[in-house]
Amino acid sequence: MSSQSTQPMVKAENVHKSFGHVKVLKGIDLEVAPREVFCLVGPSGSGKSTFLRCINHLEKINGGRLSVDGRLVGYREKGDKLYELKEREVAAQRRDIGMVFQRFNLFPHMTALANVMEAPVQVKGESKAVARERALKLLDRVGLADKAKNYPSQLSGGQQQRVAIARALAMEPKLMLFDEPTSALDPELVGEVLDVMRGLAEDGMTMIVVTHEMGFAREVGDALVFMDDGVVVEAGHPRDVLGNPQHERTKSFLSKVL
Ligand code: ADP
Ligand code: MG
Repeated sequence: MSSQSTQPMVKAENVHKSFGHVKVLKGIDLEVAPREVFCLVGPSGSGKSTFLRCINHLEKINGGRLSVDGRLVGYREKGDKLYELKEREVAAQRRDIGMVFQRFNLFPHMTALANVMEAPVQVKGESKAVARERALKLLDRVGLADKAKNYPSQLSGGQQQRVAIARALAMEPKLMLFDEPTSALDPELVGEVLDVMRGLAEDGMTMIVVTHEMGFAREVGDALVFMDDGVVVEAGHPRDVLGNPQHERTKSFLSKVL
């Protein structure tokens, strides 16, 4: 092995986040390596969504350091001082991160194709022809080549979520965040979305996945963190954490979801 270390795609050091007096993240430390599928699990209210939202600039951390691909999220460092990035610089950082939510939030008045084309055209100023070609490829990749002209209301929940994944991929992100992407789906539709995510993982996408799908975490995950009450309780390879949890809180949580 060479001694050269790869820079983490995401690095959180003692990250804190409060809403008013409510402390939600109480010192999160973790690292996500490039190409890693990093699973984040834990009870409702433990701070998982808040952590993802901090990575994606939807919330601002109150303490600690958070970086993506070696760059601080929302700040520039000069000497020992931090300067907030300008709106334009924040937008540039956000462009590199794709996010998929529990609710698909597609634009209801646009076809699947138009949904996937929208951000590259509007945000990146890409030509419609180029955006369209990529969007068609992405729809094909998520198994929906034949649904390009359908509106969201004409698609199942699983299909809508696959369009949402294609839409996030259209910006060619270097990091994908998934916040319980299958939790709102009927059970029979969960598999098709997980299959798309598995394909993405095989293609080497770096992904942070908040999920209760422990089968997916075990089969596809490279790392797993169990979070509770704003702290990382336990971290390791999914096989180890799920198969041999060390902490009572992890055991108790897993006994409810496994
Ligand atoms: P999880 O995704 O693990 O279920 P969340 O990150 O959504 O947890 O929420 C963690 C805690 O933070 C919860 O107690 C929630 O009520 C609180 N919280 C989240 N967002 C806000 C907000 N914008 N204002 C106030 N409290 C919030
Ligand atoms: Mg959540």
